[in-house]
This record gives sequence, structure tokens and C-alpha cells, in this order.
Amino acid sequence: MNNQNIYKNIYENIATPIIICDSELKIMLANNAASELFNEKKENLLGKILSDLILLPQEGCPICKGNINSKFLPEDYEHTAEIKNNNNEIISVSVKHKLIEDNIYICQFILLNDCSKLNQAHIDFVSTVSHELRTPLTSIKGFADTLLSAGDRLDKEQQKRFITIIKTQIDRLTRLVEDLLTVSRLEAKKDNSIYKAINLNDFVDIIIQTISPKAEEHYIYKNIIPNLPPIWADSDKLEQILTNLVDNAIKYSPKQTQVTITANYEPENPDYIQIKIIDQGVGIKEEHLTKIFTKFSRLDNPLTRQIDGTGLGLYITKSLVESMNGIISVQSDGSGSTFIIKLPVATPELQISKKFSEKD
Ligand code: ADP
Repeated sequence: MNNQNIYKNIYENIATPIIICDSELKIMLANNAASELFNEKKENLLGKILSDLILLPQEGCPICKGNINSKFLPEDYEHTAEIKNNNNEIISVSVKHKLIEDNIYICQFILLNDCSKLNQAHIDFVSTVSHELRTPLTSIKGFADTLLSAGDRLDKEQQKRFITIIKTQIDRLTRLVEDLLTVSRLEAKKDNSIYKAINLNDFVDIIIQTISPKAEEHYIYKNIIPNLPPIWADSDKLEQILTNLVDNAIKYSPKQTQVTITANYEPENPDYIQIKIIDQGVGIKEEHLTKIFTKFSRLDNPLTRQIDGTGLGLYITKSLVESMNGIISVQSDGSGSTFIIKLPVATPELQISKKFSEKD
């Protein structure tokens, strides 16, 4: 096969829809992908101008309009547009024009569907965040207004109660903003992890000690098998993961119940350590077990209504575990919940590979 035939075959079969326009800006060639995009036989596309296929505002691209006399006929130009295919479906695309020899334009189409789905997720996220921010702000404004306008008519006890509510709501806002910053860092994949071998026995002791002021009415136990090898993790991330999970275990369990942190080998893969946080709390219904790891998911249970939370904690926890090549899962029945994290053992290979990468 000679080179020209190879190029022709590539052009015909490449997955990107490409249309070639002649010096009059009329379609002279269309490949298979373009025929599929417009849901039109190739021969029916030939001779048309792009404006027959592309929905454009009046001031739209002169190349797509076939406006050969336009003062603005750029050599390289990219814009978004909508096309209407033969089934009357409207499809969002990005169109890239490039002028080549003999005043011929190559017009390449890129589907924007995935991108617009992302945009929708972004719009939903902004709307949820705005809602989450507005709730405490409304409460702060309401109580501050009352204190300003009628504070002198309230007794000391009432004033103290109103100021306490304002402080609680400010704490909630602070937590939300901190969680949002963590989410944004994680999603930007700016990973500053510093991996090292971590001895879980000592590490869990520190977590229990740090969390103890919140756990005065719960019993926290540790059960780590003897001679467990260290895990390979970033200590800041591990601290946040364990703190979030133990904190939740306390929040969603009645007073005077137990929270146990266990660690042993993952039974099916001894290269991994399995850490469990087991509580005797309200539990999670089976249909909610996967949902709880998504952003802003707060399940309705008697304790969620009393307890403030952002619904971001488990989303952050899961992202942190996965960023360290780990896995998180949850099991629950009527008598409580168990969160299970699996993280790699700090094998000599991992530790040596780090030393080498540091030298690089
Ligand atoms: P929140 O800030 O609401 O605690 P999380 O993302 O940490 O957000 O948790 C999401 C939801 O999952 C909580 O609102 C709660 O309903 C449920 N949940 C989390 N941990 C537990 C647990 N140990 N027991 C029961 N429910 C839990």
C-alpha cells in the first residue's frame, strides 16, 4: 500500500469526526466518524456548507457559515457549537478549524458530552456548598440581629444561649471550610505525601489520647496483634483517616458503648494490614452502605439529627485511603458498624524504592 492510501485509510477510519472544506468553504470530504456524528451518509454531506449542519448564533464563526468574504477567516480557530444530527438530536461539540495549503480547511469535531457532565457535577457541587454555607449563616445573622435589636431586654442566660448558638454555627462553618479545602486539595491531586514505616501500636495510642476529650462517655479499646509489621503510609493522612473514623464511631454510638480499633494481617493478602474501627452504634442500613462515601451524604438517623457534621468526612477519608493505595469498606448490622481499611505493609522493597527515589 502506498503512503497516500495509508493516509486515506487513516483519515477514513480515525475515531475523530473530520470534515474538509474547499476554498469556497463547501464540504469536499467527510470521514466515517463525521458521517456517524451527523447521522448522514458521506455523499449527502458533500457540497453542503457547515452552517447547514451547525447551529450558530448570527455572529457565529465565518468558516462554519461558509462566509468566504468575511474579513475574519482565521488560520487556526477553535470554538464550541451545537450540531443537529439527522435524528434531530442536539449535540455539543468543540470545532477546531485549521487552514492548510490551497485554502483548504480541516474541521475537526470533539464531543463535549463528558465535559458537560463534569460541568453539571460542578454546578451541583457549588449549589450544595452554597446551601450548606447559607444554613449556619442564616442562623448567625438571625441571632446576631436579635442581640443587636433586643439584647438589652434579654436576661443574661438568654444572651449567653444566643452567643453560644452563634459560636457553634461559626465552628460549623470553620469545619465546613476546612473540609472543603481538603476536598479541593485531594481533587487537584496535589499529593505531598511523605511515606514511611509506621508502627500501628504506638500510632493508635496517640490517636486515642488525642481523641479522649471527646470520648469521655465511651470506652475506647485497642486490639493489635503482637509483632505486627509496620505499614507504609503518610502519617498526616493516616492520622486524619483514623481520627475521622473513631470520631464518627463516637458520634454515632450511644454513651457508655465501646469503640474498638483492631489491626492484623489481611487474611487474603499478607502484604496488607487490615485496620478495623468497630462500634456499637446506630448502624447503617444496607442500602446506604455505598452512599455514605459520597460528598455531603448525611443519613437520617436519630443521632445525625442531633449531631453536627458536614457529610464530607467519609468522602475525604476514602480519598485519603485510596491515595495511599489502600481500600476502605464498611459492614453494618443492627448492633453497630465496622469500618475496614487495608493498607500495604512497609516491605523492604517499598522502603528501598523510596530511598532510590529520594536520591533521584
Ligand atoms: P458527617 O460529617 O455527617 O459525620 P461523614 O461523611 O463522616 O459526615 O458521614 C456521613 C454519614 O454517614 C453520617 O452523617 C452518618 O449518618 C453516617 N455514619 C458515618 N459513620 C457512622 C458510624 N460509625 N455509624 C453510623 N453511621 C455513620
